Amino acid sequence: MVALVFPALPTVTLPVTGRAERFPVRRIFCVGRNYADHAAEMGNDPSEAPFFFTKPADAVVESGSRIPYPPATQNLHHEGELVVAIGKAGAMVPEEEAEKLIWGHAAGNDLTRRDLQAEAKERRRPWDMAKGFDKSAVVGAIKPGPLQDGRLRCSVNGSVRQEASVSEMIWSPAAIIAALSKMVSLSPGDLIFTGTPAGVGPLNRGDTCKVEIEGLQSASVTIA
Ligand code: MN
Repeated sequence: MVALVFPALPTVTLPVTGRAERFPVRRIFCVGRNYADHAAEMGNDPSEAPFFFTKPADAVVESGSRIPYPPATQNLHHEGELVVAIGKAGAMVPEEEAEKLIWGHAAGNDLTRRDLQAEAKERRRPWDMAKGFDKSAVVGAIKPGPLQDGRLRCSVNGSVRQEASVSEMIWSPAAIIAALSKMVSLSPGDLIFTGTPAGVGPLNRGDTCKVEIEGLQSASVTIA
């Protein structure tokens, strides 16, 4: 045993549908602009290649949590997304082999400080503080196995704000894994937020935001 100057924080874990064991989270990758209608609503060209940003693993929030309205923003936004959970290591993975790395799927909400993101874009600065803040990655229970095409719906206080089929993604999970694994080595425990469809918008104190994907448990969060 290595002696530590203070106890290491425990590994972040998520519940697994139908299993008592939990899923240990390593890194969180996120895809920008993966639905044409959302790229258009943000004023971007949807034909561009996918790009990636990250959130720290300890930004994970389990479904059903209440979180404080985050500091340093006046414009917290929801982004309902399919989350792919990686179960096998891989680098430079060909797209035809990429699905073998997938352990399961979850519904997720890529919470975003939209005002800080707009400022970062404007000033050509990194997105980290807009995307990777505390409690910014809401993730539902991870369901093992493949996912059939399903409807994604994101609602605020019961009213639907985002709705799409996950098959409308420009880059499929396999294509995302192929592209991402050219940049970094993927490892078991990695999560990939696969991008959000049109309809992103603000969350206010007291709101409950629920992301539902057919076949998966929902990812719900309440802003206290
Ligand atoms: Mn997103």
